Amino acid sequence: MRSYQNFIGGEWASAASGQTFTNFNPADTREAVAQYPQGGRADALAAIAAAQAAFPGWAAQTSVARGRILSKASQLIEARKSELAELLTREEGKTLAEATGEVQRTADIFRFFGGQSYVLGGQTIPHDLPSQLLYTRREPLGVVALITPWNFPIAIPAWKMAPALLCGNAVVIKPASQAPAITCELAKILVEAGLPKGVLNVVIGSGKEVGGELATNPAVVALSFTGSVGVGSQIYQQLAPRMARAQMEMGGKNPTIVLADADLDLAARLVAIAGFGLTGQACTATSRVIVERSVADALTAKLIEKAKAIVVGNGLKAGVTMGPAVSKPQLEGNLNYVQIAQQEGASLLCGGARLTDGDLAHGYFMQPTVLGNVRPTARIACEEVFGPVVGIIPVDSFDEALAVANSVDVGLSASLVTRDLKKAMLYTERIQAGVVKVNQISTGLALQAPFGGVKKSSTDSFKEQGAGAVEFYSKLKTVYLDYSA
Ligand code: NAD
Repeated sequence: MRSYQNFIGGEWASAASGQTFTNFNPADTREAVAQYPQGGRADALAAIAAAQAAFPGWAAQTSVARGRILSKASQLIEARKSELAELLTREEGKTLAEATGEVQRTADIFRFFGGQSYVLGGQTIPHDLPSQLLYTRREPLGVVALITPWNFPIAIPAWKMAPALLCGNAVVIKPASQAPAITCELAKILVEAGLPKGVLNVVIGSGKEVGGELATNPAVVALSFTGSVGVGSQIYQQLAPRMARAQMEMGGKNPTIVLADADLDLAARLVAIAGFGLTGQACTATSRVIVERSVADALTAKLIEKAKAIVVGNGLKAGVTMGPAVSKPQLEGNLNYVQIAQQEGASLLCGGARLTDGDLAHGYFMQPTVLGNVRPTARIACEEVFGPVVGIIPVDSFDEALAVANSVDVGLSASLVTRDLKKAMLYTERIQAGVVKVNQISTGLALQAPFGGVKKSSTDSFKEQGAGAVEFYSKLKTVYLDYSA
């Protein structure tokens, strides 16, 4: 079993309370993965103070100097790819192939922002008069807090941390308690890459206490959160009184619309990957399949075939294509939603049960699940499950499909499968989502493109990822300089 501590001011430290907790492998709870400090407000306060002290020195470095450290970190992550991926699988449960992809993505994110250090800057603007220089300076914000979820435990910390550090901020991150190991490994890598003490601080512990301190402490000038709608909206309100900068990226209820003219083999493949891949534990996972009635039965048959071909098991084992739920509460929540769906009139077409054969009894495994005849207003069609559960909603037309897709209060990712270019274009105009895909999976994002939701999926204040990610982590100052005299 590994043992981690909080990382504050460049030192690894126990929680002030002295308390610890242990995480177990969700694929085999007989295996203890790591022990952690149960941090609280005192630890968050110490981390904020360390970040405040480190900020001026870090901000004074050039962006190119900061970028070199990010690029070096990218190389170090890549060199340790297989070891980090295995750790990720042991703690969070996704398959080794999925974890390897996530670690590679993290290396790519650091490389991307390392490169951005050469173009980070303001803009010169033509003035009305001669001999005037009018320009903007891009400056860091100060102490920035990051609160992250467990489902992408290295990629999400990375896509917040890299632009935050590039812009010259000092960072305090609170990773989710279900999977903090890999964030601690990332901190070690950044130290090895040359990050000065106190510039990055990691506090593990209670969301309410550590997260609560980060949300309410006046020294924290900006907070970027990814997680559930409930927690995100609470933190947003805690930031508002002091007008701290806020970026809240939250859950979705992502549709894949399948039109009658679609290639149904393609549609079934896209839904199976986006609905059951990552055990359905992706914010952009497909959970609603909105399909034109004339092809609903044919699509359903193909999807069930794909679901039945999925090999559920320990993600470290060769041949396994879907891992466990991250925790017992998550598994119970998934199974509970299957019950609720049936009580509300949906038919269970495939899966729906916990798997307990042999070694599976020691993990949080369930079958990939397909529900048919789902009503658009049923809870299973409106609430995020965050598990391998897909509901099929038959509709009579493209317009009805769009209306159903837009009828929920969230809007993160949305996919459409069709060969009709006109409908595809109309869909991109009318769908209420931050990420829109045509003939592609609803999951899967290009790290160089902006990402974020609309409606209750996001405060939609600043996009994450891509070159534009620096907008959240920096401020612009406008300078007027007169050299005419
Ligand atoms: P969560 O909201 O339970 O927790 C997220 C983080 O907030 C954790 O670090 C947690 O400890 C912390 N937290 C909990 N209570 C807090 C409080 N009162 N104050 C401050 N911090 C607190 O979410 P989760 O279960 O870790 O993650 C799953 C959710 O994340 C899903 O809803 C998923 O859709 C969403 N998600 C969204 C995106 C996106 O980019 N939009 C990406 C991944 C996951």
